[in-house]
Amino acid sequence: RAKDGGRRQWREFDPALRSQFDRRHQVEQDLGAALADGEVEVWFQPQVCLNTHRVVGFEALVRWYHRELGPVSPPEIVAAAQAANLSDQLTATVADAACRLLKRLPDLGLPSATIAVNISPREFDFYCVTEILDSITAAHGIDPALFEIEITEEAILDTLVAGEQLKMIERSGYKLAVDDFGAGHSSLAYLVQLKVDRLKLDRRFVQGITAKENQEIVGAMAGLGRSLSMEVLVEGVETAEEAEALRALGVEMAQGYHYGRPMPVERIESWLADRVAVPQKQIA
Ligand code: C2E
Ligand code: MG
Ligand code: MG
Ligand code: MG
Repeated sequence: RAKDGGRRQWREFDPALRSQFDRRHQVEQDLGAALADGEVEVWFQPQVCLNTHRVVGFEALVRWYHRELGPVSPPEIVAAAQAANLSDQLTATVADAACRLLKRLPDLGLPSATIAVNISPREFDFYCVTEILDSITAAHGIDPALFEIEITEEAILDTLVAGEQLKMIERSGYKLAVDDFGAGHSSLAYLVQLKVDRLKLDRRFVQGITAKENQEIVGAMAGLGRSLSMEVLVEGVETAEEAEALRALGVEMAQGYHYGRPMPVERIESWLADRVAVPQKQIA
């Protein structure tokens, strides 16, 4: 019967039934057009000062809603970009969106807020990331000190990266953050040598912040940041209790669902307006 036939046909194309291999293949195949058509979006998550409750910046996070596959996760997108030789286009898309928002921040009452973009270790290895960023930030007339680059500990430990790309970042004047700090292995010597501006403590430390052990780790990291003149920001803050515990331990900044989820750029203005209208919501 036609009805059953229709059902069967639908099932064949049901995204949930695709094998992982097919999905990966399609993601790789469609990424180029999605980047070119603006189907790959860049959302922004606010970063807040724990003491003043002011917005200090935003992190750019890639988003892609594939019409057949549904949401494609950022790690999938990054992997597909590498496989399809599109890493530089992905970086350019994110950096361009970051610069557009940076230009608007003074009008939104945030003249000194920063925008952070993530650069994966592989992008560092194979592409002239700094050249791409330099041409985009220059085209927009951006102050590089407000443009932050987030790299993971993994990238820092790669001597090739540490030797060349990070020197270029410093020369260009971008702000440098170490992402997911404490999740892997990192060398204190590198942190000092590379003039890291900001440590982003991994979410894992927040989840157990009520445990004494984690409090000691976070307190020590906040102290480390102070003595090395690095800002310390904690990721993944989901509750007011966590925010207060972190503030009491000397952490300066936070990012997480408690303050705001990643949002499309059009939503930022109303999100900021809501904060002003209901200030007690933000008090940890
Ligand atoms: P990340 O750079 O550590 O970004 C933080 C991730 O934590 C984001 O996931 C964010 O949505 C999520 N998050 C923020 N606040 C909370 C919270 O309170 N609770 C929980 N449970 N999660 C929270 P997302 O957007 O899925 O990104 C995952 C990772 O993908 C990022 O981790 C980053 O490493 C990578 N990524 C995202 N966008 C890009 C990009 O444009 N380029 C590159 N190379 N990597 C990207
Ligand atoms: Mg990040
Ligand atoms: Mg992180
Ligand atoms: Mg620096």
